[in-house]
Amino acid sequence: MSLQRYRRKRQFDATREPRGDKGVGGSRRAIFVVQLHHASRRHYDFRLQVGGVLRSWAVPKGPSLDPSVKRMAVEVEDHPLDYADFEGDIPKGHYGGGHVARFDSGVWSSDGDVEQQLADGHLRFELFGDKLKGAWHLIRSQRNARQPQWLLIKDQDAHAAAQREADDLLAEVKPPPGGRNPARTARKPAMPPVRKARNGDAGGHWASRALALPQARRQAAPRGPFAPQLARLGTSVPAGEAWLHEIK
Ligand code: MN
Repeated sequence: MSLQRYRRKRQFDATREPRGDKGVGGSRRAIFVVQLHHASRRHYDFRLQVGGVLRSWAVPKGPSLDPSVKRMAVEVEDHPLDYADFEGDIPKGHYGGGHVARFDSGVWSSDGDVEQQLADGHLRFELFGDKLKGAWHLIRSQRNARQPQWLLIKDQDAHAAAQREADDLLAEVKPPPGGRNPARTARKPAMPPVRKARNGDAGGHWASRALALPQARRQAAPRGPFAPQLARLGTSVPAGEAWLHEIK
């Protein structure tokens, strides 16, 4: 294992990715990291520390917590350990150009000999991350491809969850600059909560309170598309007592 392929693909005067010439520190537990990479094709990068490098797989759809789902994981070049801390933008036009954000990280372990399991094409391992936990498998499906293809599969255990995808767990991943994170904005309530009536009657419900207003009547919500009421530019102010004016 070496970082030759990693370095050959990159120009370190153009990208902020680490060169990987820092030494390997101590004998701490092996780390893992999963990064969401908005490259020309969006994918997740799945990296496990083996010895002094991060063995790496590109997982187009990301890990799934559903044990019945097999996720294609294409083996790519080893990355330096400090790549686990890399977040930010790789310049467009360069290898892997696009935004990188950390999805999850932590430590991992395996009961068996890791190198031997990788050579045999079936690694059984356990993740200790914030989002990804419990037992997993990496199983090689095509030995002789230029980029060997593996399957990343969640083992059936207490951390498995049917139909739960990496994309479902994205709420805490920072969106790219200028981008939006729908998971985060969707959590804001559309309206401030209405204070409940103390007596516990329906008076605390906004619809009941609205209907209690003079001339209020019940009406079904519009079903089809409708045009929102938008502000328009005008050259004169409307007449009448019913208007308030504010000068900008
Ligand atoms: Mn990538």
